[in-house]
Amino acid sequence: MSAVTHDVVVIGGGMSGLMASAYLAGKGFKTALISQGDPVCCLSTGCVDVLSPGTHPLEGFDGLPPGHPYRLVGRKGIEDGCRLFKEIMATTTIPYAGTVRKNREILTPIGTFKTTCLVPLTMTGAEGCRDGYTHVISFNGLRDFYPSYITSRLKNTGFSLYDAGITSTLGIATRFEDKAFLEAFIAWIEGLEIPPGKVALPAVLGIQSPVQIMEEISRRIGSEVFEIPTLPPSIPGLRLFRALKGALTARGGDLYWGKAVGSVECRGSMVEAVTLATQGRPSRVQGRAFILATGSFVSGGLFARIDTVNETVFDLPVYVPGPRKDWFWNDFFTAGHPIEKAGIEVDGSLRPTRSDLKNLFVCGSILAHGEIMKNHCGHGLAIATGLKAARICEGFLS
Ligand SMILES: Cc1cc2nc3c(=O)[nH]c(=O)nc-3n(C[C@H](O)[C@H](O)[C@H](O)COP(=O)(O)OP(=O)(O)OC[C@H]3O[C@@H](n4cnc5c(N)ncnc54)[C@H](O)[C@@H]3O)c2cc1C
Repeated sequence: MSAVTHDVVVIGGGMSGLMASAYLAGKGFKTALISQGDPVCCLSTGCVDVLSPGTHPLEGFDGLPPGHPYRLVGRKGIEDGCRLFKEIMATTTIPYAGTVRKNREILTPIGTFKTTCLVPLTMTGAEGCRDGYTHVISFNGLRDFYPSYITSRLKNTGFSLYDAGITSTLGIATRFEDKAFLEAFIAWIEGLEIPPGKVALPAVLGIQSPVQIMEEISRRIGSEVFEIPTLPPSIPGLRLFRALKGALTARGGDLYWGKAVGSVECRGSMVEAVTLATQGRPSRVQGRAFILATGSFVSGGLFARIDTVNETVFDLPVYVPGPRKDWFWNDFFTAGHPIEKAGIEVDGSLRPTRSDLKNLFVCGSILAHGEIMKNHCGHGLAIATGLKAARICEGFLS
C-alpha cells in the first residue's frame, strides 16, 4: 500500500475544509485535502451569509445559544475568517465585496431582494437598482430564471430575451468564455436601444473570468451590468468552489479529489493515518494532525439511521436533538428543523468532546448546534470555523 505523510490531513472539500487547508498550506505546512465529491457550495448562490439578515450581519450574535459554533469562534474569529476569505478570493478571478459590518442586497431570480454579507463582484450592481431603470436580459429556454417576476415586482424595469442556442446555465456560461459568442451578444445588446440605467443578467457570464466579461459588456454598452444568482445548480457557487480549490493548489496543497476516506488508523489517542476507499491499490495518507470537515447530511458527513445519527469517518458520537419522531419533518429545508442541531459537539479547541482523540479538530456544518438555515450562517460558519480549526492546528504542530 502506498503511503504519503503530511503535517495536516483535511477530510472534506467544502468551504470549511478548503479554507482550513488553504490557510495551512499558505503557512508552509504540508497539507492534504481529501474529498469524495463536490461540496454543497456548488448549490449555493456563491454569496456568504454570515448571520443576521438585517442591516448588520452580526446583530444576532448575542442571541445565539451558548453551544453555537460561533460562540467558540467569537466575533473577532468571524471577522478574521471573512477577511481571510476576501484576501484569498482577491488572488483569484472571482474577487468578493463586502464586510462583516454591513449586509448587502442582491436581486433574486423572482424579483425579491436577499440580504447577505459577502458577494462576488459581479453581483454588487444590484445595490440601488430599486431607484433607477434596470433592464433584465434572459435567454430563450432558460429555466429557473423568471424575468417577468422581476419586472412585475420591480417598478421601472424591462426585459429582453437572447437566443444562446443552449438552455442550461452551465452551457451558456461556457459559451460566454468564447470571444466570438461574447462579441455576438454585445452586438445584439447594442442594437436593443435600452433606456439609461443598469443591465441585469442571470449569473452565466462565464466560469473562469466573469468579472472580465461583465466589465467588457459594461464598457461597450455604457451601462452598469450585474448578475442575479440562479437556482441550484448555481454557476456562482461552482466558480467559488473552483477558485478556492485553485487557491489551495497554488499554495502547494495536495488534493485527493473524488476519494472517500474508507478507514482510519489510531494509536492510543492519536489519529495516525486514513486509507482512501479507491478501486485500485488502497492508498494511505498519514498526518500529524487531522481536520474533519465532511459536512452534514447533504454531503454524507452525517448519516441518519433508525433512531441514531452516525458520523461517517471516525464514528464519533453525534449529538441528536431528542428521539427520531421529534426530528422527522416532511420538509428537510424548513428553517428551525430540529435535525439541524445534530452534529459533533466540540470543546474550545474544536476537538470532539466525547472522544479522546488529541490531534483531531472539527469544523463546518458537521458541528452540532449550528442551525444553519435558521441562523442564516451557511458559508460564514464554514469559513470562521475552518480558520479557527486551522489556527489551532498550526499551534498544535508548532
Ligand atoms: C441548496 C443550498 C443552498 C445554499 N446556499 C447558501 C448561500 O447562498 N449562502 C450561504 O452562505 N450558505 C448557503 N448554503 C449553506 C452552505 O452551502 C453550507 O453550510 C456550507 O457550504 C457547508 O460547508 P462545509 O464545508 O461544512 O461542508 P460541505 O459543503 O457539505 O462539504 C463537505 C465535503 O466533505 C466531503 N465528504 C463527505 N464525506 C467524506 C468522506 N468520507 N471522505 C472524504 N470526503 C468526504 C463531501 O464530498 C463534501 O465535498 C446552502 C446550502 C444548501 C444545501
